[in-house]
Amino acid sequence: MSKDTISELKIEKTAKSKIGEVDFENLKFGSVFTDHMFVCDYKDGAWQTPEIVAYQPLTLDPSARVFHYGQAVFEGMKAYRDEDDQIWLFRPDENFHRINKSSARLAIPEFPENYFYEGLTTLLKLDSAWIRKGEGNSLYIRPFVIATESGVMASPSSEYKFIIICSPAQSYYGGKVKVKIADHYSRAASGGFGFAKAAGNYAGQFYPTRLANEEGYQQVIWTDANTHEYLEEAGTMNVFFRIGDKLITCPTSDRILDGVTRKSVIAIAEKLGITVEVRPIKVSELLEASKNGMLKEIFGSGTAAVITEISSFGYKGQDTDLPVLEDSYASKIKKSIIGIQYNKSEDPFGWRYKV
Ligand SMILES: *Cc1c(COP(=O)(O)O)cnc(C)c1O
Repeated sequence: MSKDTISELKIEKTAKSKIGEVDFENLKFGSVFTDHMFVCDYKDGAWQTPEIVAYQPLTLDPSARVFHYGQAVFEGMKAYRDEDDQIWLFRPDENFHRINKSSARLAIPEFPENYFYEGLTTLLKLDSAWIRKGEGNSLYIRPFVIATESGVMASPSSEYKFIIICSPAQSYYGGKVKVKIADHYSRAASGGFGFAKAAGNYAGQFYPTRLANEEGYQQVIWTDANTHEYLEEAGTMNVFFRIGDKLITCPTSDRILDGVTRKSVIAIAEKLGITVEVRPIKVSELLEASKNGMLKEIFGSGTAAVITEISSFGYKGQDTDLPVLEDSYASKIKKSIIGIQYNKSEDPFGWRYKV
């Protein structure tokens, strides 16, 4: 990857780092932010001179479009520090292309590649002390775009802010989760924007997820909006099912978020000699496989936890526990991906990107 540099990137360092005040042993995910942020404004039909400034609040007009019409997209990625103090990103090109894909769907102008890479790597170098050594430690990176033009006309904004903020994250041992298979609510519809990492997709999930929480489930497995027969995603993760020795996940579509972790899980599984089937999978197939003792594992994939194993699922009031396996596909695949992310193993796919 050769990325042109932007000679005009402005850097205004903070007068005093906050890092001394942070308890790195007790981090709550996504609650503490580093000293700096990257900001680039779009106006008069062009992205303006990007800047790195001290992490600080934004001042926006109350009528700014983002507050009224949810014209906003985001990304989630991580930086890792290896034992030799080198900093790595994992497949950042995927995140770059995806945020522009999301933007296009929300009528937001695309962001230039050189601004993204130079902004991100300069920010990471400036705040590199926040990326801690040790497996599980990482820096969660949140690029996002918001519509900032004032005025409540229901039309796309002519002004935007592209921002990158970073949050130190600790080892994520989320444990196994209990999920509810949705039979009423939907996350995304055909022709909609489920494939985009749009703020509104998350807002729409909060209420049905809370209802599931009240019934004792941590997450919802989303099914297709038309029939609720096909299994699509688990919470804010892509979802995999192991039936017998096969790993099954549904194909991407305009309803499915094309996860970087999902892609990586498929490639790693195939490399490990596991048969992967990318095809639609029905709730009825899951129930049947469970009855026959063929359903071995269900797991979600996403940047935050890499892989989250599911311990049981509920469907129409009936709970089904999954077997506890010694050597699960989930744990094998997770170990392989983490090895690549932390530069502990070979990177046969060329996924690591040195900062
Ligand atoms: C972000 C996200 C994922 C996971 O994508 P990764 O690139 O693997 O982090 C899956 N589903 C939804 C709905 C998401 O928003």
